[in-house]
Amino acid sequence: MTSSELRQKFLDFFEEKEHKILPSASLIPNDPTLLLTIAGMVPFKPIFLNKIQPNFKRVVSVQKCVRVNDLGNVGHTARHHTFFEMLGNFSFGDYFKKEACLWGWEFLTQWIGFCPARMWVSVHRKDQEAYEVWKNYVGVPPERIVFLGDEDNFWASGPIGPCGYCSEIYYDRGDAMGCGQSTCAPGCNCDRYLEVWNLVFMEFDRKADGTLEELPKKNIDTGMGLERLASVVQEAETDYETDLFLPIIQDLEKMSGNDYSILALKPPFRIIADHIRAIVFLIADGIYPSNEGRGYILRRLIRRAYRYGGKIGIHQPFLHELLFIVIDGMGNAYPELDLRKDIISKIVYQEEARFEGTLKSGEVFLNQLIEQAKKSQRQQLSGKDIFMLYDTYGFPSDVAEDILQEEGLQFNKAEFEDQMEQQKNRARKARGEKDQLMRSQKEIEELFTGVNSRFVGYNQSMVNTEI
Ligand code: ATP
Ligand code: MG
Ligand code: MG
Ligand code: MG
Repeated sequence: MTSSELRQKFLDFFEEKEHKILPSASLIPNDPTLLLTIAGMVPFKPIFLNKIQPNFKRVVSVQKCVRVNDLGNVGHTARHHTFFEMLGNFSFGDYFKKEACLWGWEFLTQWIGFCPARMWVSVHRKDQEAYEVWKNYVGVPPERIVFLGDEDNFWASGPIGPCGYCSEIYYDRGDAMGCGQSTCAPGCNCDRYLEVWNLVFMEFDRKADGTLEELPKKNIDTGMGLERLASVVQEAETDYETDLFLPIIQDLEKMSGNDYSILALKPPFRIIADHIRAIVFLIADGIYPSNEGRGYILRRLIRRAYRYGGKIGIHQPFLHELLFIVIDGMGNAYPELDLRKDIISKIVYQEEARFEGTLKSGEVFLNQLIEQAKKSQRQQLSGKDIFMLYDTYGFPSDVAEDILQEEGLQFNKAEFEDQMEQQKNRARKARGEKDQLMRSQKEIEELFTGVNSRFVGYNQSMVNTEI
């Protein structure tokens, strides 16, 4: 089954269960507390917070998401991406735990063909009700139901307000994907027990004193990563071997002349394939590279992807061409990509071309610093050096940090910040002096114009007209 078919099946399944199909919302959320849309529930938050009344009680969507907090995992785990699609069904004060669990199980086992013997579920330690539903109503063997704590199985939108227990559906991908520890079980951070779907049961209103009051109208919010679902269905080793990523990786192989099957090259191939999707979708939703907020996230992704290109032998701008394969694959599901493909390519080209020069000149200097540090067995580089790199070559400190991390090194951040502050002060002072200089120049000019003009007082409009 292709990923396009999976998307459609999910929508069809829940449409059959009387859900209204809604299109994905933008990656720019209508929510000042969030930089980007990180889950399918984000557009529905005002409903969960009881601020607006829904037009439909049951809704299903495939939501574009970007999670920057997973950036460090990308390319190193089988399952974490910056951009991903979240399949979700929602109930606003309508059905609750029983239906959510039963339908989740039914979709995976009967519509998709998951092998039930490899499926596990987790419930919150205090959620006896969910345990009973899985065991008695859905028929999951009790030995494959695990109890987890707040960290994995409790959801809240903030310290007060609606919240509730979650229940997650896992797929056992076998020993080979595991960490090998005897404690390895669902909830373990390795890739063996793949968390496919999270079902959130919004049932409480948390008060300021921490007490949980039952909500009069209980809600369901679920989220399942399409990439993870595809990896199970397509029997892929990781998400990257699915039809969502492989075409990108194959194009990269052609561009670089390098081979994805080389073990050491897998992370850079994967990171670029991940980032290029996020880059395309962020720009299509109206985000431009800049030095703050969303624009900075985009800029950082372009720079990272460009730099990882170097690791597979690409040393000139390439992302602006690679992105067309993303648009080819996703254009049907997301028509905004096709509409904006030329502008997306232009923006990416400008950004990577600009970064190319910075990287080339700065990297030589940084490599020298790394060599020196290694020779003298230092694990930390001075913040002054990293600042110099920034000041001289415009080399961003987050790029330096990434590079150092790969070498098992770091730099003194406090010292770097201190240098930055000092520079800002110098700039402020210089600006002040320049202002003064400009004022005196103006005075001189006025002196000259004064030769031909009769002084009639401090009225600008009259200075040059009164002779
Ligand atoms: P994990 O424990 O694997 O990091 P999570 O518990 O943080 O996942 P949730 O916040 O529960 O994830 O999100 C719901 C679903 O969205 C997950 O079950 C998973 O299928 C998918 N998902 C979450 N984060 C990512 C990501 N970074 N990349 C791809 N899919 C993701
Ligand atoms: Mg996570
Ligand atoms: Mg989790
Ligand atoms: Mg989860």
